[in-house]
Amino acid sequence: MARCAKAVFAGVGIALAVTAGARGAERELIGRSVDGRAIVAVHSGAADAAATVLVVGAIHGDETAGMRIARRLIAAGAPRGAELWVIPTLNPDGVAAGTRGNAHGVDLNRNWPFDWRPLDGGEYSGTGPLSEPESRAGRRLIQRIRPDLTIWFHQPFGLVDASGNQPWVERRFADLIGLPSSHLPGPYPGSASRWQNHTFPQSTAFVVELPAVVSPALTGRASAAVRTLAAELSSPRVDGATSR
Ligand SMILES: [Zn+2]
Repeated sequence: MARCAKAVFAGVGIALAVTAGARGAERELIGRSVDGRAIVAVHSGAADAAATVLVVGAIHGDETAGMRIARRLIAAGAPRGAELWVIPTLNPDGVAAGTRGNAHGVDLNRNWPFDWRPLDGGEYSGTGPLSEPESRAGRRLIQRIRPDLTIWFHQPFGLVDASGNQPWVERRFADLIGLPSSHLPGPYPGSASRWQNHTFPQSTAFVVELPAVVSPALTGRASAAVRTLAAELSSPRVDGATSR
């Protein structure tokens, strides 16, 4: 589903040369948070690659271990034949404050427009679907680049949630990263992965719950797992040998 992704959106699609990252990687401002912080995506690989993979390091601002994986991936870049997009965090205000929600106190993973419901407390879902600029920025990018696979990193349960459209992809990722493939007790209303799985049924999106404490070894294994899976999804040989 990879396609040319050079369109510029609403004045925020500014591609900049990356100073620290894979050769040819491009850093793009995809939106701004409630408090005006930059939301950045880093793109590497060819836009006409056989598979496009998107990784989001953190959407909950108090679950930031995935951001270290994101930085590794940005440094390594896309494997041959694949296209890789990395958003270190969709919630820079929450990361700065150490809070789950954004600066409005909204749980951004309950703010997407599939099965949105009004929720209060720690999972406050906002005043309506896509009420938050961070969710809108994420959706805009996914609609534009149409990832074949999106991985959202969370903490602290230590599992790969078997909830996407292509369970074999999640099982393969679980094997590669060395975490169990299991079911979170959802389904979670208004979550980003459910929105993608519903909106783009040819693609798959799932949550990886890293453990509370993530060692450098696990960070490295996670980054390698993303790149291996991206390469396999881009390979016609493997593609033809699976149920994909
Ligand atoms: Zn989370």
